Amino acid sequence: MPVLAANFMEVGKLKLEEKTVAQPGKGEVLIKVKAAGICGTDSHIVKGQSSASPPVILGHEYAGEIVELGEGVNNFHLGERVIADPNLLCGMCFYCRNGNGHLCENLRALGVDLDGGFAEYALVPEVQLHRLPGNMDFEEGAFVEPVACCIRGLQQAGIQVGDEVAILGGGPIGLILLQLAKAAGGKVTLSEPVESKWGLARAVGADHIVSPGELPENTFDVVIEASGARTAIEQSTKTARRGASIVWFGVFPLGERVSIEPHDTFRKELRISGSFINPNTHAQAIHLISTGVVKVKPLISHHFSLREIETALELHDSGTANKIMIIPNY
Ligand SMILES: [Zn+2]
Ligand SMILES: [Zn+2]
Repeated sequence: MPVLAANFMEVGKLKLEEKTVAQPGKGEVLIKVKAAGICGTDSHIVKGQSSASPPVILGHEYAGEIVELGEGVNNFHLGERVIADPNLLCGMCFYCRNGNGHLCENLRALGVDLDGGFAEYALVPEVQLHRLPGNMDFEEGAFVEPVACCIRGLQQAGIQVGDEVAILGGGPIGLILLQLAKAAGGKVTLSEPVESKWGLARAVGADHIVSPGELPENTFDVVIEASGARTAIEQSTKTARRGASIVWFGVFPLGERVSIEPHDTFRKELRISGSFINPNTHAQAIHLISTGVVKVKPLISHHFSLREIETALELHDSGTANKIMIIPNY
């Protein structure tokens, strides 16, 4: 049976093609993909700004239903609604052996190095699956991976109850981080240049919303950069108060440079952290979405079918959309 998939062939080339569905191998299941989110990383990969292993079917934020079981799959059944944790760790390297598996030297990810979810069907190793609770639909399921990444961002931020928190960037990631920061007890100011995004930010709990030019200096206990914009990185050390914690969450193109003043880091004793993927945070992400602590449905601005994926990526790159969902046969 030929099925549709979006195959990343080389930089600049995403090819929509009919492929034969592979049989699940030992320990694998075949899922019928019901929803897959477009992430900034997908766009970076197509433009050659983030590494991947082509040819590969992109899409690492997806949910679906199990339609076939490979040999030896014992923990999941046909018809179950699941999501995939896309990150496969080697279990053997220095980092895996020292409790930092997400920093694995041999990390491979579904939708980046191995075929992912921008397809009608996808193969997933059983060990990467998580069940969706009955009250979560597939589109909410497609948010589990980005929420899991944001939970890592919150761990890095170390918010204390009552902290003044600035989130720079009001896209889907910024609005997930915002809700997590609120849940952690922070008072959250969102900095977002596109005013049409302010209403949604207010609806999901922002205490204050400002345009980047209005962001005060020396004010915030915690600053999370969530836009991937150079100016936001540069602002992060200025808007931080003394002793602040800063997380650079946004993903920048490989090779991109920014200009910051290291004296600020010294004088204000700033702690600047990165945040990479989602170490053991998928289960918590499912819990937070399922219990309504993080509301993801309002973050969806568009739906496209798999055939329209090029249009969907162009819209993503325009910066005017929020979360774009690919529903294979929409
Ligand atoms: Zn992503
Ligand atoms: Zn490893």
